[in-house]
Amino acid sequence: MNIEEIIFDSPLYTRWKRNVEIEEDREVKIYNLDYLISSFKSRVDRYCTKCGKHRIFAADQNVFDVTNIRNIHYPEKIEDKPSFFKSFRCSSDPDHKILYSFIVEGDEVIKISEFPSKYESVKDTFNDYKKVLEKEKITELSKASQLESFGYAIASLLYYRRIFEGIILKTFSESAIENKITEEEFRHKRMNEKIEYIADFLPEYFKENAHMYGVLSKGVHELEEDECRKYLPIVKTIIFFSLDEAVEKRNKEIRKAEMTKKLAEANSKLK
Ligand SMILES: [Zn+2]
Repeated sequence: MNIEEIIFDSPLYTRWKRNVEIEEDREVKIYNLDYLISSFKSRVDRYCTKCGKHRIFAADQNVFDVTNIRNIHYPEKIEDKPSFFKSFRCSSDPDHKILYSFIVEGDEVIKISEFPSKYESVKDTFNDYKKVLEKEKITELSKASQLESFGYAIASLLYYRRIFEGIILKTFSESAIENKITEEEFRHKRMNEKIEYIADFLPEYFKENAHMYGVLSKGVHELEEDECRKYLPIVKTIIFFSLDEAVEKRNKEIRKAEMTKKLAEANSKLK
């Protein structure tokens, strides 16, 4: 169990068992997850939306069991549920904060809010992809991450699947394959067959995660929220990995073109 991931990366409304077994000095001890979250003190490298770049964030002092706000008109209806905030401050300016809140409900802990939103935190990084993705796909990427941060795993996976398919199709049309089939024929293949067909032109990571293509091929009505939640991180990693690779490749081409131009200029001066 990775506390940093639970705090920062998990979608809203995810539920975890409150009791956590941790091995300490060869002895298994039981901790409350709410305690582990509120006492998490590691410094973390995160994107600061105010600075517009990655910064080191440090956790604030615990504010555990914040006051329950009571409505004087319905005093009996509001239960005492321990909720708590976890906040972090940017190393370059203490006013730049990242804030999360959790609630303990029975034997579960639920993440109930985050600020800034996951979308705000990733939005700027999408700008880099403008060079390799059409505007429409950038919008889909934003929608996918927004839906994911609200806990809508199926809806989010559908958007990521579209982007994923776009990458696969682009790879197909740009690859030099002998006796290449038509795009129409390629489109009719199942996801795992498509991957297989262009395997030589894909990063290793695609092949290592072949087990998830079945899920990506499923129809909307067959998808389960839990299953989608499980596969989302893998699909995302593959997408961002491929996009980063494409950006890198493009930047290299641009640099190469610039160098060629400079060389030509230098040569012409020599003559
Ligand atoms: Zn900052």
